[in-house]
Amino acid sequence: MVAPAKAAAVVKADGYGLGVTRIAPALYRAGCRAFFVADLGEAVELRPLVAGDAAVYVLNGLQPGTEKACAAAAVIPVLNSLEQVANWSAAARSLGRKLAGVLQLDTGMSRLGLSDIEVDEFTANPALRDGIDLTLIMSHLACADDAGSAANPEQLARLRALLDKLPRLPVSLANSGGAFLPADFHFDLVRPGIALYGAMPTNRPTAPMRPVVRLDARVIQVRSIPPGAIVGYGASFTAGQELRIATLAVGYADGWPRHLGNCGAAYCGAVRLPIVGRVSMDSTAVDVTALPAGTLRLGSLVELIGPHQTLDDVAADSGTIAYEILTRLGPRYSRRYRDADPGAAEPD
Ligand SMILES: *Cc1c(COP(=O)(O)O)cnc(C)c1O
Repeated sequence: MVAPAKAAAVVKADGYGLGVTRIAPALYRAGCRAFFVADLGEAVELRPLVAGDAAVYVLNGLQPGTEKACAAAAVIPVLNSLEQVANWSAAARSLGRKLAGVLQLDTGMSRLGLSDIEVDEFTANPALRDGIDLTLIMSHLACADDAGSAANPEQLARLRALLDKLPRLPVSLANSGGAFLPADFHFDLVRPGIALYGAMPTNRPTAPMRPVVRLDARVIQVRSIPPGAIVGYGASFTAGQELRIATLAVGYADGWPRHLGNCGAAYCGAVRLPIVGRVSMDSTAVDVTALPAGTLRLGSLVELIGPHQTLDDVAADSGTIAYEILTRLGPRYSRRYRDADPGAAEPD
């Protein structure tokens, strides 16, 4: 979609919670040759998962004292300050070889990267980057998900002004949301994360997102309760009539948001099963009265994320964003990957 720009893959936080050991090799097989993670620990884990022709970039930069480890791991730090530039340059000189680095510019998010003043200092002192093989200049958009935001063209203009002062190098600005902005935001490399994992990264309604994750929960008990019975901790729900309640083996320890108490739902086919009472650590109760008796029993599965309730629906119901739902998916789920045999055709 962004061609002729290339697409990197952002696989930080264990591939947005989905399992970087499976996701990174799949993306590599699909042709991806640039991967971004948050820190050196993630980069060291990722490096052997992809071949040597793939670049591994560390977004959070270079922690003092880790320069040698970073060089030894053959990963590329995003240099977010002049201090990090100086430390990487010193490491290159002491190792007696060039070290690849990315320069990040702050164009308005005030999070990471060189300020305007630091860019001037950087250009005034070429010795600062001795030994550094700068391979990419990058910046990051604060409001890319809001296609109409005035912040987007403002950041683009600031980036262009800073690039005019710097050597000509490949440039990267857009994340997933930025990929849906006009082509002048795409430069040479886009850095999608969440769009790879099926969430809607933009308020532009034409985004062709397809779900990637399906999440089901097991029924561990079904019971009928009389009018006046309470459900769950804190007695936050009282049955107004006789109800059938199913207890699901999913709770906030699985990253199933506690905020969904008395407002979220599970699905059985197209039938909405409202969550009743609070979400517990290991279980959640749903009202299954709308289903014919006997539909759900011990061991049945109900849908939490899938065709009837998207990741974005769950995020909206719990007052958060898809990123947080995905990255908090807990370790207790049994995880099945559809590309288990890379040679096999993907089921649809
Ligand atoms: C996390 C991150 C991305 C990916 O963002 P998405 O919105 O998930 O596409 C890209 N660039 C930087 C600097 C990031 O921190």
